[in-house]
Amino acid sequence: MELKEKAFKSVSRKSHPEDTVIDIGGVKVGGDNFTIIAGPCSVESEEQIIGIAESVKKSGAVMLRGGAFKPRSSPYAFQGLKALGMDYLMEAKRITGLPIVTEIMNILHLSLFDGVDIIQVGARNMQNFELLKELGKTDKPILLKRGLANTVQELLMSAEYIMSEGNTKVILCERGIRTFEGVTRNTLDLSCIPIIKQATHLPVIVDPSHATGIAGLVAPMSYAAMAAGADGLIIEVHNDPPNALCDGDQSILPEEFDVVTRKIKKMASLFDKRV
Ligand code: PEP
Ligand code: MN
Repeated sequence: MELKEKAFKSVSRKSHPEDTVIDIGGVKVGGDNFTIIAGPCSVESEEQIIGIAESVKKSGAVMLRGGAFKPRSSPYAFQGLKALGMDYLMEAKRITGLPIVTEIMNILHLSLFDGVDIIQVGARNMQNFELLKELGKTDKPILLKRGLANTVQELLMSAEYIMSEGNTKVILCERGIRTFEGVTRNTLDLSCIPIIKQATHLPVIVDPSHATGIAGLVAPMSYAAMAAGADGLIIEVHNDPPNALCDGDQSILPEEFDVVTRKIKKMASLFDKRV
């Protein structure tokens, strides 16, 4: 199946042959850069987010992730610390200097995202076209995650929604898709990476945590992502996974994350990337 490349004008590599490189306060995403983003699924407390930020920074993460607004399947599950979580993220940024990546679920919350460096659109909102259009009017970099049941064509069309409003700073993220396979939370579609890289100039990163749902698979899938040509990783790291308020099963410990970054740094020259 061919991609219908004419449908995505600004996203297409034909419109912009060189790789787009997005500069976030000196941290670069795209081109020959390999960008490692890490942090917990959710911000749980000030100590938790600062502690994890400090340890992932030591290992080589250049950006901090952490959800303050959480999309959960159950309305009774932890929904995130919301505005308070944003305050804790800002404190972690102030202390460590790490730029922040965090998810928006409602455009009405946009004013809370002033200090955020990359706004994440989660898998469940990949086709929330009104949200995409509004984010397209901002000048914040957007991390657009592939929907659970969306094709590469649809992912690229959603990026086009953002770009058509003027915002050219879009980073794509493959985070696994639903298939008949039940042993992993999702199926990591690594073959889409070279396809996306050929079709678009936008950077594409891989989330091995949501893609597999299993902490023990995060390391091997991280290495595979680099080999497939990804521009970076977003990895869930937690200091106490069994007691995490969200996604503990797929969260790795800071010391496990350290092993991943060491090996990724060793692999980088082989794949013409700078970590
Ligand atoms: C997350 O990043 O914590 C998250 C909810 O991701 P996704 O939208 O890919 O499920
Ligand atoms: Mn998560």
